Amino acid sequence: MEIIRAEKMGFCFGVKKAVEACYELSKEKEIRKFILGMVVHNKDVVKEMERIGFIIINEEDILSGKDPLEKGDSIIIRAHGTTNKVIELLKLKEVVIIDATCIFVDKIKEILIERESLGDEIIFIGDKEHPEVKGIVSFGRKINIFKSLSELKENSLDLSKKYSVLTQTTLNKRKFVEIKEYLQKYYPNAKIFDRICGATSERQEATRKLSRACDIVIVIGDLKSSNSKKLLEVAIAENPKSYLVQNDTELDLSIFSENMKIGITAGASTPENIIKKIENKIRGNFNVKL
Ligand code: SF4
Repeated sequence: MEIIRAEKMGFCFGVKKAVEACYELSKEKEIRKFILGMVVHNKDVVKEMERIGFIIINEEDILSGKDPLEKGDSIIIRAHGTTNKVIELLKLKEVVIIDATCIFVDKIKEILIERESLGDEIIFIGDKEHPEVKGIVSFGRKINIFKSLSELKENSLDLSKKYSVLTQTTLNKRKFVEIKEYLQKYYPNAKIFDRICGATSERQEATRKLSRACDIVIVIGDLKSSNSKKLLEVAIAENPKSYLVQNDTELDLSIFSENMKIGITAGASTPENIIKKIENKIRGNFNVKL
């Protein structure tokens, strides 16, 4: 038996930084510590954060004034950031804000603020319900959000205006190219910024490659994590023997047999210790090549 890991898998840069910020803050024993939302879409990680002393609160609680925050508490902002309004309320409460917003998300926010100050109207391509999008656009004045090229096409732009076009970090690259080609053809007055983060597409591409090369594929991730579910879809398309497993206790060893090539991949929200435990469980029960 052989275990092959995907070339790119597990925590992305931004999530890794946010989780590290949590561990760093957990060393402070004398203060109350909070995390805004799920630092990572993985219930085992959230449980671990609670175990090391964090209380998880959400934006709705802060916006409605029902949060338990008090002056001097510390709060970590997750990798996908939050809205301007939430930041303002946190400042008013005089809590210590540890902003773990990913630098790629922050960069889009910076461009948006700068381009608006130069007089551009902003077009934002993304899912307006996604926390990252809600956060970024909240720093602008008037943002036109479209989720797809067809939605954009339904709204004619003004050729006499200057536009800046920004996107969600995880926008599909193919969709981005289609939008870019459309705008370049019909609206030369639109300046397009490509700030898509490669973490998602890299993990999908690596999973595709892995799934072709293996007899069975284990995608490790939370059942509610959209990026892990997407990896499973990619894997199944190449290899029907692909399974999403949340942790080692859920791993059913009867799906394996000797001489199999087992592919292992994991979403950007899956920590290395969960991946390792699954790998070790297989190694402990089968004769796996080193
Ligand atoms: S997916 Fe990309 S943008 Fe989002 S947190 Fe990870 S590295 Fe940052």
